[in-house]
Amino acid sequence: MRNWSQHVEFTAASIDKPQTLGDLQALVASSDRIRALGTAHSFNDIADTTGIHVSVAGLPRGIEIDASHDVARVSAGMRYGEAARLLHERGWAVHNMASLGHISVAGTIATGTHGSGDRNPTLSASVRGLEIVTATGDLARLSAETDPDGFAGTIVSLGALGVVTTVDLAIEPAFDIRQYVFDDVSHAALLADFDTTFGSAYSVSFFTCWAPGLVGQVWMKRRGDTDGEWLEPGILDGTLADGKRHPLPGHDAIHCTEQGGVAGPWHERLPHFRLDFTPSSGDELQTEYLVPRDRAIAILRDLEVLAPRIHPLLHVSEIRTMCADDLWLSGAYGRDTVGIHFTWQRRPEVLGLLPDLDAFFADRGGRPHWGKLYDASAASITTRYPRFADFVALVERMDPTGKFRNRTLDALLSTG
Ligand SMILES: Cc1cc2nc3c(=O)[nH]c(=O)nc-3n(C[C@H](O)[C@H](O)[C@H](O)COP(=O)(O)OP(=O)(O)OC[C@H]3O[C@@H](n4cnc5c(N)ncnc54)[C@H](O)[C@@H]3O)c2cc1C
Repeated sequence: MRNWSQHVEFTAASIDKPQTLGDLQALVASSDRIRALGTAHSFNDIADTTGIHVSVAGLPRGIEIDASHDVARVSAGMRYGEAARLLHERGWAVHNMASLGHISVAGTIATGTHGSGDRNPTLSASVRGLEIVTATGDLARLSAETDPDGFAGTIVSLGALGVVTTVDLAIEPAFDIRQYVFDDVSHAALLADFDTTFGSAYSVSFFTCWAPGLVGQVWMKRRGDTDGEWLEPGILDGTLADGKRHPLPGHDAIHCTEQGGVAGPWHERLPHFRLDFTPSSGDELQTEYLVPRDRAIAILRDLEVLAPRIHPLLHVSEIRTMCADDLWLSGAYGRDTVGIHFTWQRRPEVLGLLPDLDAFFADRGGRPHWGKLYDASAASITTRYPRFADFVALVERMDPTGKFRNRTLDALLSTG
């Protein structure tokens, strides 16, 4: 079996899909090596195991809303977009979504997945509680109430602590979004007015191919209840798109959520891609670095030196913002953050560029996205997370025999 991009061939001997919680608990208790697999959208081998894979997608699915606490309990194996639809039908929303809704709720939060927005933290940061089958096969409920010190270490878990079966997500009343795309925005204009541009709407992305001339697109998602409509004919030196756009040049915009300022439900506008269509290209690899917001403009200027090497291998690059959180392994831990993302063509030369890219970002405080491709030593990565030693202690306590570990985790955990 391979991952979504077909780039990683899993070594797992088989995949089990228990239909009941009891079966899942028995399976975990009796396994020496086992690892949860979500929808396999990660671009590296973070989800792999030399034992067996287990999916929670076969467990009974649904959402339970606790309106008095603004929390919804969501089945962890559901796709994020499906959970979002169910929430919306009942008048609720989560604060943000990734570019696609195709990924599982558990896989999303385990890797620190994020969308964009100056005041929006990662999707992992909206988790209020977890139900998890631990190494012994017991079912544990984790929350800040039960574990005020350690809960922040359990959410971006990389699958190392057990198999998550339900996730409690913070919710708010449903809201509308209007999405606008602007063409021909120059890097120079964006970097001269970075804060105003990213602060101009609830969620803003900048797409660029790093092509000579350095121009890109601004994608703006405005909340009906707080931002209102965008009445200008353009933004910065760019103009409002005269039709629907796909972020990857040359791809059919039918795959994308509605644009042109047409108001619609949050879950049909916050992702770039429609749930029932192929997201992105499919024939691709992805890399992303999360950098400190206060250094982002200088970093993006410095990155221009690498543009001649990046551009020929790229489909597109996306720049997004998110606010700081306190999750130990989150890319946005402890600092407002800018995500600098690359959707690569699926070509072997990309792998040759990754070490240089990591050297560039490591020098500038960049943390690689856990679910995307990077080439760096485990020791170098773990120094970028101030609470990594605490995470190692947590894993040793919850999984003393290492049944949830894999090659990547063994390397990372041995540095702590
Ligand atoms: C087209 C595309 C667009 C993307 N867009 C974004 C984006 O906008 N923003 C962003 O931040 N990322 C993005 N990503 C990356 C993606 O969000 C992450 O790779 C995410 O982890 C994928 O979720 P998954 O369900 O496929 O997880 P998998 O890849 O299956 O697993 C990822 C990790 O989660 C763990 N896991 C899965 N299920 C469980 C469980 N039940 N219990 C415990 N651990 C579990 C696995 O063990 C593994 O460590 C994108 C990826 C693709 C392919």
